[in-house]
Amino acid sequence: MKLYDALIQETLAAAEGAKRWPASSLLPWPVTESSELVMQRQAAFELGGSGLPSANYTLVTTDPALAGDEVLLLGPDLPELKADAPFARIVILETEEISEDDAGHDMIRQMEFVRYHVFPKGYMVRVSATSFEEQVRVSRDAAKQGIRFGRIGQAYIDRYKTVPGVKSVKVLFLTDRAAVERLKPIAKKADDITKTLSHILDGLPTDCGHCQLKPVCDEVEGMREMHLGKKK
Ligand code: SF4
Repeated sequence: MKLYDALIQETLAAAEGAKRWPASSLLPWPVTESSELVMQRQAAFELGGSGLPSANYTLVTTDPALAGDEVLLLGPDLPELKADAPFARIVILETEEISEDDAGHDMIRQMEFVRYHVFPKGYMVRVSATSFEEQVRVSRDAAKQGIRFGRIGQAYIDRYKTVPGVKSVKVLFLTDRAAVERLKPIAKKADDITKTLSHILDGLPTDCGHCQLKPVCDEVEGMREMHLGKKK
């Protein structure tokens, strides 16, 4: 599947110069079963809040050259932050080809579920699905215990790897303001592709003349072929 490949290339270009940790070198940060409340008075700082830019999205590919199990970071790491900061978390998944049947639909659903269901200890995540943003409140206890993005990324990688069909997981964290601003528009485009793909897998009629999703198909290489090919 190549639907997101152009966005992956744009994202990796915006993260050029990032530090990289191969997943094999990282110990996952502990996670909890459900979202843990971090009160404001317990917080060391917030990411992506207080009017600072934020972005959150997931991209999928079958091209191993764009993927690989690793964590990338552009900007200061958590131990270096002393105040609220801009924030983006991007996940790039390498998967088996997404089939145009119930299995493909299920894979997309499970990947979306994981996006909102990883709960690192002392790291309270608030996702806004409508504005494609994510805010994180980091507790003072977690800061004292040495929380850092490499280990948070590994916790996400481990969780995504439990989804059947996921081959590799790249997690990008950005706290560099200019880079986060550059990624914000990509979040909306990624969401448009995911929604269109879900509609196609739902069995949307192949009538381009009356289809509200035409602007997405006009822009995203391979989307129209996928839908019309599905009909055949
Ligand atoms: S291929 Fe045509 S009918 Fe299918 S989603 Fe795109 S515009 Fe709509």
